[in-house]
Amino acid sequence: MTQPETLSFATETRQLLKLMIHSLYSNREIFLRELISNASDALDKLRFEGYSNASLMDDGGELRIEVACDPIAHTVTVRDNGLGMSRDEVIANIGTIAHSGTNEFLQALESGQAKDANLIGQFGVGFYSAFIVADRVTLTTRRADLAETEGVRWQSAGEGDYTLEPTSAPRGTEIVLHLRDDAQEFSDDYRLKSIIRTYSDHITFPVCMPAAAAPAEDGAENDTDSDSDADSEQPPAWDTVNQATALWAKPKTEISQEQYDSFYKQLAYDAQPPLALLHSRIEGGHDYTALLFVPAQAPFDLWDRERRHGVKLYVKRVFIMDDAAQLLPAYLRFARGVIDSDDLPLNVSREILQNNKVVDAIRSGCTRRMLSLLEEQARDEADKYARFWGLFGRVLKEGVVEDHANRDRIAALLRFASTRESEQTVSLADYVARMKDGQKAIYYLTADSQAAAAASPQLEVFRARGVEVLLLGDRIDEWLASSLPNFDGKPLQSAAQADLKLDDLGPADAEQPAVAEADWKPTLSVLQTALESKVESVRLSDRLTESPACLVASKDGISGNLERLLKSAGQDVPDSKRVLEINPHHPLLARLKAQADAEHVADWALLLYEQALLAEGGQLEEPAQFVQRLNRLLLEQ
Ligand code: ADP
Ligand code: MG
Repeated sequence: MTQPETLSFATETRQLLKLMIHSLYSNREIFLRELISNASDALDKLRFEGYSNASLMDDGGELRIEVACDPIAHTVTVRDNGLGMSRDEVIANIGTIAHSGTNEFLQALESGQAKDANLIGQFGVGFYSAFIVADRVTLTTRRADLAETEGVRWQSAGEGDYTLEPTSAPRGTEIVLHLRDDAQEFSDDYRLKSIIRTYSDHITFPVCMPAAAAPAEDGAENDTDSDSDADSEQPPAWDTVNQATALWAKPKTEISQEQYDSFYKQLAYDAQPPLALLHSRIEGGHDYTALLFVPAQAPFDLWDRERRHGVKLYVKRVFIMDDAAQLLPAYLRFARGVIDSDDLPLNVSREILQNNKVVDAIRSGCTRRMLSLLEEQARDEADKYARFWGLFGRVLKEGVVEDHANRDRIAALLRFASTRESEQTVSLADYVARMKDGQKAIYYLTADSQAAAAASPQLEVFRARGVEVLLLGDRIDEWLASSLPNFDGKPLQSAAQADLKLDDLGPADAEQPAVAEADWKPTLSVLQTALESKVESVRLSDRLTESPACLVASKDGISGNLERLLKSAGQDVPDSKRVLEINPHHPLLARLKAQADAEHVADWALLLYEQALLAEGGQLEEPAQFVQRLNRLLLEQ
């Protein structure tokens, strides 16, 4: 026999193992779920490859997972007769971590956010959870397409390195955990059984444990010749411990809420039950079953549009793939669940999924059903919907931009804060229902944040006239607003646009005295000259009541917020100048008007412009000069 060969873990792996072993204390029992889930994946893969190469399935009997423990040797063993791994695959899959979630998980561990081992499965590093309970792990595996003698044994204490040696092995993988002193509790049949029922009940393959032995007549320790007992030459009888059925394939009426919840928890690695679920069997045309859930907490990679491991694709109950991104649009990527098609071929690949009529039909059907589910919740369970909105509202907003066919339905699901409601609870329908007489548009204001929008001087006229304005502070809101020209026949209009038809808004509560435009001509032209390079024009405002000045977008120009967003995204934005509106009722302007020929009038003009910029959350172009200007004026007093 050749000597075992020693190899080193990749640096990241080593770091991960160390942190994991030392920082995860709660829910240590999930190691079993992770190993069973890997075994189940390997069985899925074998069954899948078996469709094109039947000989792979030849030996090995029923596809299943076996779990056993030995309280005397202090071990737990998990075995599957799945696809197994070649030597290179062992090195690539177990010695290195190629998963993209690794870094995120390392960060979560380092920052102490993840004390709970339950999270591991989400990050794709489940195998290593074995080392939370074991100080030595032996993995013996043989790939289904290799000869019996071409197996590999991998062994490690979870520190710097591991060994590999060739061995004979049956098809599949066996993992033996040598339990740590503080983890002896796991070499107990009863305990293992209850862990399997909690975490792996919905694995679609049987998970078996040795059938309970008949009670021993004598103490087992005294039974020194038990090895030669006639009984022990019989293969042990095994009991199936889990449900081992595809829950989604059962009729709805036969499934309890508890079963749905536990299915979801096992599928999504979530400790909390879902916020909502939909379970439909669609027939006629393309037949499929969808069981989809809305989680009650946001997955860690929600903001990564490329990484979607929400929906598993099955074909006639056979697992095909995880992360089937084509099955739902990106703006529903928070959903978790299973879609099982009757019509797709079993050898379907990701490429085939991309341009496929069946997939298109499933996608649009599931999208419509998810929207109905959200609509029902918004109507009947306002509290839950508010929770949903807080978690996933920003993701759903992408749908208004991307999904034209469903735009109006998604728009009706949006919730905003406004000048009346500080929480994001106002729907567009609510807004329309309380529009003032004569009001023709739905007004909104975008800014860096909701708070910045709420503080904007541009709202003064709306406040004075009691007109509600929606306050939009998410990054996506600019695109949202420009993708939604109207709702319920009412145009959406930015409150920062120059050509507001303010007269339509009805009289202000306290009417300001009329202003003689002609009186202001000289002042306006002085300001205009001083600000030539900064603004398109300067004019009297009828939207300000308290602030001296504000900036508004010219008729075809873009708003200041959009300009900042585009610039921060590294885009070349053509310099579009805006309009400076001044408040003729403000004492500062009255003074400027009286001294329009003063020496420092250019400073005044610039300061007016700069404070308008600051007030809307913008950044000064020349902060140092701003300070100098301000100081010059202060010294003058
Ligand atoms: P994940 O399951 O998310 O890929 P894991 O850390 O749990 O991450 O497993 C790493 C990889 O090791 C798996 O993707 C698989 O390729 C391989 N693997 C683990 N257990 C088995 C097994 N029982 N049979 C075959 N391959 C396995
Ligand atoms: Mg895994």
